[in-house]
Parts: sequence; C-alpha cells; structure tokens
Amino acid sequence: MTARLALGVDLGGTNARAALVDPATGRGVAAHKLAHAERSPEAVAAAITTAVGEAARLAGVDAAALGTAGVGVAGQCLGSSGVVLNAPNLGWRDVPLGAMVAGALGLEVRLVSDLSAAAWGERCFGAARGVDDAALVFVGSGVGAGLILGGRLHEGGRGVAGELGHVKVSPRGAMPRPCGCGEWGCLEAYAGGMNLATRLREDVADGKAGAVLAAAGGDPGRLSASAVEAAYVGGDHYARELWAEVGELIGTASANLVTLLNPLRLVLGGGVLLGCAHLERIVRAHLADRVLRAARRDFEVRRAELGDDAGVVGAALLGGGAHSHEQ
Ligand SMILES: [Zn+2]
Repeated sequence: MTARLALGVDLGGTNARAALVDPATGRGVAAHKLAHAERSPEAVAAAITTAVGEAARLAGVDAAALGTAGVGVAGQCLGSSGVVLNAPNLGWRDVPLGAMVAGALGLEVRLVSDLSAAAWGERCFGAARGVDDAALVFVGSGVGAGLILGGRLHEGGRGVAGELGHVKVSPRGAMPRPCGCGEWGCLEAYAGGMNLATRLREDVADGKAGAVLAAAGGDPGRLSASAVEAAYVGGDHYARELWAEVGELIGTASANLVTLLNPLRLVLGGGVLLGCAHLERIVRAHLADRVLRAARRDFEVRRAELGDDAGVVGAALLGGGAHSHEQ
C-alpha cells in the first residue's frame, strides 16, 4: 500500500457507511454499508465497528493501524467532545458516540455533523474545489449547512455552527410548525422532506393537496417533495403555492447566509432541492434577488457534485487525511 488511506464513516438515520478513501484523489477504495437493525447507541456503535472492519478487510488493511477515523453524524455534535447532542433521525440526545466508537475500534475519532463533512468533501474534491470561502446548503429529509471559512471548516465555538435548518422563519401571525429538534418555526419544519410529508398529510386530510396525493399514487404514505414537484409540473395551484412558499424560505435563508459570510461559492445539495427542478429554480431566483449586492461579486451557485459520497469522503479527510491533499 503506497498511499495512506483515510477512514470515514457516514452515520445517517437509516444506515451507517464506512469507507477507506485515498486522500490524494478523494476516491473510495473500499466501502461497506449497514442498515440499522435498531437505533440504540450501542447497536449503532457496533454497526459502525462492523462496517469499518468490513471496509478495512475489503481494502486489505488493518483498521487499527489507520490511527484516526472521521465520523459524520446526521445531528448536532459537540465537536471536540465527541458527543451527539441531538440526532432526531436516530432518536438520540447526549450520546457520547465518539468515545464509544474510539473504544471499539482502538482509533482516535473526530466527530462532525454530516453536513460539515459533506461541505469539506465538496470543498476538497467537488463543487467547491479550490474555494476558501464556501457554504453548502442541503435540503433533504432535513435541512442544514456546512461552512468553509478561510479554507477551514467552521464548526463554531462548540461545534454546532451551520444549523441553517433551525434558523427561525415562521411568519408573524401564523402558528409556527414543530421541528424535529424540539423547537418551533425552524426552516426545517417547513422545508425538510420529513416535515414536508407531515404537512402534506395534514393538508390532504383537510381536503387540500388532491393533485399531490394523486401524484403519490393516492397513497398518503408516499406523499413527498417529488409528488409536489410532479403536481407543480401539472399546473396544480396548491403545489405552486407550496413551492413558492418553501422556495422563498430556503432562498431567503440561504441569501442571508451569503450576505453574512460572503462565500464565493454556494453549493446546493440534498434530494429535495436537487430532485425538484422547479423548487431549485425558485430558490436560485431568491438567491439572485436577495443576496446583498456587494456580496454578489464573484459569487456562484453550483449543484453538489459528490452526491451521497460527499459525507463519507469529507469525514475521512477531516479525520485523517485532511492535509494530505494540500501538501
Ligand atoms: Zn429545529
């Protein structure tokens, strides 16, 4: 083995994926994914250990010799302490995952949010390559951002920077919607795919959103952003109103992020945003209109390039290979 490999883990609500990545190219050399049989911290830590062992076996390396692992988690992480504060998709609060995984693998573990990991992956080998000030805005089942400032990942004072999904956007006079974080009126409560499906089911029960239900094959369990998009394409009024509202919320929050931090590149990612062309167009229109004019100079919006690999590649580079490619 000529190049030292970096070990990354991407922990989501449905599975854990481990990959060994060549830090010089960002390419995965071997990977293994395990769906969660159960979501207790012990079971998930064991699944991560198994996935890492399997990836290492496929790559023909000894996992314990890798030294460090980067772990990206779909949740809010107290960075340096290795504690997952709140991971709604896993049902976790205050889980010392870093210590659990480090103990099981005999490796040092660096824990980051999955979007910080994805932003770093895009910065090293994807749509924000070569840009020292960049932000990733992700709208999938959840909503969040990853921030690269001055060439470094910006995690904030305690590791929870970039929680764009939890900026409050509820309009005055309207009842704020509940968010998976336990608070009310968050951007994710309106724009995240899981919360969007909940709202669609409510609206269907109220006799609205009939065209969206039809696009979901008449099954309320299949109501989703893509069903809204399909109804939008068919000219449905409800879908058009909903995308106008959701697109304005995402676009305005993202524009304010750009005005505040002055990144030169905003990378759009996530299945809701990249899977719904009309929603993406509306978001981009609000970005073009609402970023402070002074912050528009040399500013570009691009689509994420690494897809599902961004998180595991970024986690690997942050854990062990972060500097190798810069030498
Ligand atoms: Zn929230």
